[in-house]
Amino acid sequence: MNLNHPTTYIKGVSVARAELLYSELGIKTCRDLLHLFPFRYVDKTQFYTINQLQQNSSEVQIVGKITGIKNVKQKRGSRLVATFTDATGSMELVWFKGAKWIKDNLKVNVPYVIYGKLNWYNRTASMPHPEMETVQVYKSKLQMAMQPVYPSTEKLTNKGISNKVIGNMIQYLFKQVFGSIEETLPTYLLNEHQLIAKREALLNIHFPKNQELLTKAQFRLKFEELFFIQLQLLQKKLIRKSKIKGFVFEKVGENFTSFYNNNLPFDLTNAQKKVLKEIRKDLGSGAHMNRLLQGDVGSGKTIVALLTMLLAIDNGFQATIMAPTEILAIQHYNGIVELLENTTIKVDLLTGSSKVKKRREIHAGLEDGSLHILIGTHAILEDKVQFKNLGIAIIDEQHRFGVAQRSKLWNKGRKEENEEIVPPHILVMTATPIPRTLAMSVYGDLDISVIDELPPGRKEIKTIHRYDSNRLGVFKFLKDEITKGRQVYVVYPLIQESEAMDYKDLMDGYESISREFPSPKYQISIVHGQMKPADKDYEMNRFVNGETQIMVATTVIEVGVNVPNASVMVIESAERFGLSQLHQLRGRVGRGADQSYCILLSSYKLSSDGKTRLKTMVDTTDGFKIAEVDLKLRGPGNIMGTQQSGVLNLKIADVIKDSPILYKARQTAINLLQEDPALSQPKNSGLLKIYTQLQKKTGIWSNIS
Ligand code: ADP
Ligand code: MG
Repeated sequence: MNLNHPTTYIKGVSVARAELLYSELGIKTCRDLLHLFPFRYVDKTQFYTINQLQQNSSEVQIVGKITGIKNVKQKRGSRLVATFTDATGSMELVWFKGAKWIKDNLKVNVPYVIYGKLNWYNRTASMPHPEMETVQVYKSKLQMAMQPVYPSTEKLTNKGISNKVIGNMIQYLFKQVFGSIEETLPTYLLNEHQLIAKREALLNIHFPKNQELLTKAQFRLKFEELFFIQLQLLQKKLIRKSKIKGFVFEKVGENFTSFYNNNLPFDLTNAQKKVLKEIRKDLGSGAHMNRLLQGDVGSGKTIVALLTMLLAIDNGFQATIMAPTEILAIQHYNGIVELLENTTIKVDLLTGSSKVKKRREIHAGLEDGSLHILIGTHAILEDKVQFKNLGIAIIDEQHRFGVAQRSKLWNKGRKEENEEIVPPHILVMTATPIPRTLAMSVYGDLDISVIDELPPGRKEIKTIHRYDSNRLGVFKFLKDEITKGRQVYVVYPLIQESEAMDYKDLMDGYESISREFPSPKYQISIVHGQMKPADKDYEMNRFVNGETQIMVATTVIEVGVNVPNASVMVIESAERFGLSQLHQLRGRVGRGADQSYCILLSSYKLSSDGKTRLKTMVDTTDGFKIAEVDLKLRGPGNIMGTQQSGVLNLKIADVIKDSPILYKARQTAINLLQEDPALSQPKNSGLLKIYTQLQKKTGIWSNIS
């Protein structure tokens, strides 16, 4: 029997069970089962006496005797209650099911080892459905210090594949295959990082001899898992840099220089300069650029994008920016047209609502090269949109592209004589800060630039948390701000499952605000997802133009809108929003010269996570800090955009908790590839084999994040 065999080769695994293992846990082969790692261990080295039991002891193991058994009638049926006694006191053991069998088999006045969770009632402990065996049986068995608890599902448990059964399968498997478990890391790496052998690691992860060996086993397996991911990501980056041809923007020309010297409306921050330098270096290298530009809301990504595009134009190329919504595309268009006022550069806007005539004009301009910059939405991806010479594509506010869309953008590059396509350089801009460890795991193959500094003179947004009962005070504050000429947002949550209810909340809120802020003195806009796009735009524009002072909205306004005169963001039911959403919403204010405010309204009833979220918002405006907290609260799987990446389908490592191992693994992979980029040295032959297999199997390949 070998590790590639299906699980049916294991004693006790029928075809039906094998199918369950596959559908529930994705386990197909013996190797898969061997890599089903326990997610925790139960420590059964410790014994308690009854007088030592604490309200906070979770699972405990006790030695004692049953001194009495009785049936207790209850509303439906009855329960079986046994009195369990040791030298220090007594407690109750309780069964709600299977009472007859248990009663017939329990031995009174015989020493037992019992194990289970405690229930507390009036300061007395009881243990429902304990695991128990006589001390005699207990002593006859080989005891593991730490007992593994495997991931499971309700279905598996119901079909009799309990934790114990899985443990038995793995035990059987080990006996059969232990000798044939191969080492996956080269000896020199094992030595360098003091890693235990793969075989030893697998054995101790399933059947740890002691805590120390368990720790070593975990370290070895986590390291290996992270190392192979990093090896693949870095190798991919290496291939992109060496194999995919990129246009060379070698010169800094007239457009860039004159704009930089004469038209730049402000001095760039040091962070903007640094990022621009990184981009310029990429663009001059001859390799293809695939760069992620992270910068908090308002950090000034647009100007970096514009300067990058000017560089392309100076070298005879065209450029494009894609935004996720029409409103954002229009805002970019207006802003960039204004900045380029005194230049000869041609800019146009293409969205889903562009008229046919306009489209034709744009298509023609792109094809003959007279149109230099195209700004737009997904409409840019349409096949009809063909550039003469697209040099760079900038994607704003983290679109998540599917493969088809990706290849569309890719193919808008230039076709060489040999039919090979030279893709445009890609710059993805995102305002959602991604913690470093996560970025390393998910975007390890991209180059990352960070604008970690806000333009000078920004006043920090003051954030406060108020309970619903303070609403009148909040309204009073809004009136004062409006009197000063400011505008305010009031945002309601809209969460899909309960859309109807949320919609009602929004309309109720709108009504009460209308009552509190009567027309004609106050004008109110309302925007929500159930409106027609045209109506939405109309309402939005009234607010943008200052015709209305209050914008009542759902989160549709989350992304990107820029109304510098708006100085207050009120978020209703703030406890229902995620941290990154709260941060994005808050980023809508604080864009002008005035002091801005964010008011978080919540009910009194807050979950502990809810409390942490609101407190974090009040305590900091640093997007990276907020992202770190978010990552801790929600785990990496739920962070925007990482779900599909596959990179985070980790079996044992945790990119947050194990970040030191991650850094180590990444550095090891970097060193290794520097020394032996093709893994062709004899000492790396084993790695090459595994790497090649992984290449075939995993789907972590994407050309654009
Ligand atoms: P974001 O990174 O959120 O896209 P924007 O590019 O929209 O930010 O910039 C936000 C605002 O800051 C804009 O009004 C822009 O003109 C201004 N800005 C950008 N860079 C600077 C700077 N270096 N100094 C002063 N203001 C700046
Ligand atoms: Mg922006």
